[in-house]
Amino acid sequence: MSGAVLLERERLTSGTTWHTAGLLWQLRPSDVEVELLAHTRRVVSRELEEETGLHTGWIQNGGLFIASNRQRLDEYKRLMSLGKAYGVESHVLSPAETKTLYPLMNVDDLYGTLYVPHDGTMDPAGTCTTLARAASARGAQVIENCPVTGIRVWTDDFGVRRVAGVETQHGSIQTPCVVNCAGVWASAVGRMAGVKVPLVAMHHAYVVTERIEGIQNMPNVRDHDASVYLRLQGDALSVGGYEANPIFWEEAVKYRPRAAGGLCLKTSTEKVCAVWSDDLRRA
Ligand SMILES: Cc1cc2nc3c(=O)[nH]c(=O)nc-3n(C[C@H](O)[C@H](O)[C@H](O)COP(=O)(O)OP(=O)(O)OC[C@H]3O[C@@H](n4cnc5c(N)ncnc54)[C@H](O)[C@@H]3O)c2cc1C
Repeated sequence: MSGAVLLERERLTSGTTWHTAGLLWQLRPSDVEVELLAHTRRVVSRELEEETGLHTGWIQNGGLFIASNRQRLDEYKRLMSLGKAYGVESHVLSPAETKTLYPLMNVDDLYGTLYVPHDGTMDPAGTCTTLARAASARGAQVIENCPVTGIRVWTDDFGVRRVAGVETQHGSIQTPCVVNCAGVWASAVGRMAGVKVPLVAMHHAYVVTERIEGIQNMPNVRDHDASVYLRLQGDALSVGGYEANPIFWEEAVKYRPRAAGGLCLKTSTEKVCAVWSDDLRRA
């Protein structure tokens, strides 16, 4: 870690990270993802806190996958088997058992659910602050309010373009290695080195409800057929969806991060209802 420098244009988390849902589901169809998620969960729920003495804000409220057809339930049974191989505890529940676990849920049209008790919710700000603290303790430097304005490159004897350094308004850093982690702005940073980053932002809508009595400590919910998620947010729910016809947002790169108004746009009730008609039926 020693010698690594993180340059942030504004403040840490000011890009997409501050408003992420932070859902951590441990069971995915690919074994590589299952291992990566298990590692992430270990770091966020235990190791970072042990190393820094700071709480990352991790909440272990569990995760619930909803099956509204037989094929989806079969898939969840396969996920449960995969989880067993990796030591991830999970349970396939009947609609009645699901109702006992999550009394507010309408389970009339459910075939069953997959419940993973050790899934949970990450706090983006807490996780990021703790990661930065751990990295600094190991010799890394985090410099905020320091936009990268240019990347110097040179061409070696074999015609390969290589990085020589990074320019900022406050000076330059000589380095042979740059990691581009500028999120939706990555294409702009890539262009500074003559690299095309194949990345385009899309609009994503989410709604935060008012306080709901009885929602406290309920697991996060994912309905793969309806393409929606329900995330516990204090005493309320945050409801988001994966739009079937996403709207690409090429101009996102022109927006400054959070401090200057951010990437958040207002949406309309009609648009939200069009995306989540299935989900609204569930509650
Ligand atoms: C509503 C919502 C829900 C989500 N839910 C989940 C979820 O449940 N689980 C999940 O895993 N993911 C989720 N995501 C996705 C997740 O939030 C993102 O993948 C993640 O936050 C991206 O982090 P990042 O560090 O790559 O980008 P960012 O957080 O956008 O960070 C990029 C940083 O680069 C900085 N930057 C830009 N240009 C420059 C420059 N020239 N010089 C210096 N710094 C620069 C910006 O200021 C910014 O801070 C969700 C996203 C949203 C919007």
